[in-house]
Amino acid sequence: MHAQLLTAARRPLVALELPTPRPEPEQLLIAVRACAVCRTDLHIVDGELADPKLPLVPGHEIIGTVVEKGEAADRFAIGDRVGVPWLGWTCGVCKYCRSGQENLCDRARFTGYQIDGGYAELTVADERYCFAIDGRYGDVEAAPLMCAGLIGYRTLRLAGDAERLGIYGFGAAAHIVAQVARHQGRRLFAFTRPGDMAAQDFARSLGAEWAGHSTVAPPEPLDAALIFAPVGALVPAALAATRKGGTVVCGGIHMSDIPSFPYRILWEERVLRSVANLTRRDA
Ligand SMILES: [Zn+2]
Ligand SMILES: [Zn+2]
Repeated sequence: MHAQLLTAARRPLVALELPTPRPEPEQLLIAVRACAVCRTDLHIVDGELADPKLPLVPGHEIIGTVVEKGEAADRFAIGDRVGVPWLGWTCGVCKYCRSGQENLCDRARFTGYQIDGGYAELTVADERYCFAIDGRYGDVEAAPLMCAGLIGYRTLRLAGDAERLGIYGFGAAAHIVAQVARHQGRRLFAFTRPGDMAAQDFARSLGAEWAGHSTVAPPEPLDAALIFAPVGALVPAALAATRKGGTVVCGGIHMSDIPSFPYRILWEERVLRSVANLTRRDA
């Protein structure tokens, strides 16, 4: 099969032929129809995430068709269209797995990181972590839901019932989360890199009532802020823009260092937290 392979960090991917993978008992062999590119793929290629499997087929936003099944796989039929997300395997027995926090599993393995992913004609995936894909979505529309959508949704959920929602970094996750947030009747404030008028226009087209530079205070204090850009300096900026008792959620897997900031912008019961990975329940 054709595949794109990462052989070492900070090297270009190499296009080559690999043997067809064989499904283990609970795995599906999937013909890849689409695989989106996530910022995390770039963090892996850039060596910013520790210890990827090497060599590695990256890609963890996969939509494909089941072409073969392991002998114990019974959730899907040959020909079914399935999605393969970032969360590829969990142990099922650690204290996190047993308490609804499989995203924090001590032994979790991730697609396109510790497990070969979707930048290939074929891939194998544990069927217990695959999702049926609604026929109303095309392959290309559905692929980003497997990470940007799922982890974006988890980030939004951890912001609670905030009405005035700030979003820092208007890429894949934000563009999906903005639509969900507007559907829920929240008010949207979008923050982009200074001068990125295209992203600000895009945010307004998705229902943001205000869009501006990340260094600028919004017209009203935020009830919560979601940070999707991997930029630590946005943490104090978002805290300063958030009201007393509000929440700032960091949605990414990697971020540059957070600069020191005065305690007063965290005080008054502001909450600062991160999101790690996803659970199948988030889907
Ligand atoms: Zn576990
Ligand atoms: Zn991702």
